[in-house]
Amino acid sequence: YTGKTGSQLLTEKVKQITVQEYQSIPVVVNQSSSVYDAICTMFLEDVGTLFVVDEYSTLIGVLSRKDLLRTSLGKQDLEAVPVSIIMTRMPNITVCQKDDLIIDVAQKLIDKQIDALPVVKEVDRGTKVEVIGRLTKTNITKVLVDLAYDELI
Ligand code: ADP
Repeated sequence: YTGKTGSQLLTEKVKQITVQEYQSIPVVVNQSSSVYDAICTMFLEDVGTLFVVDEYSTLIGVLSRKDLLRTSLGKQDLEAVPVSIIMTRMPNITVCQKDDLIIDVAQKLIDKQIDALPVVKEVDRGTKVEVIGRLTKTNITKVLVDLAYDELI
């Protein structure tokens, strides 16, 4: 018997959960896509955050629902506006890696007041990153439910 309290055991369990166990498939658009295409992709793929990539899957931007809504309020032709001029751009993107602790990612989501982080893999000796997943508030909610039902792997 370890003498650990229930809450200590729970804490230990939570601090072992990594991003790769809960991450979702990333939905990406190309940097040359229009804002109109990005809005269609967001509806069709049923996600709240899109990642913008170049032809080599290198992460270059993030698009949220409000980024697209804000642009839609203007009088511009949405088919003529490329996503690259409205997205949040690297290096101002908060990212995570598959081996990061889910609790650290939850803290980043709170601190930065954002809904999702791209899960990335470094390429070209860390000068660029490739998008391999998506970690959202919904994924974090799933951790809570699994903990309550003691269904953690
Ligand atoms: P919404 O704007 O729809 O409420 P978010 O809160 O996720 O969605 O996004 C707020 C702002 O932060 C947007 O301008 C978006 O481009 C940006 N953003 C979203 N995710 C990230 C991220 N992982 N890193 C940096 N900026 C982000």
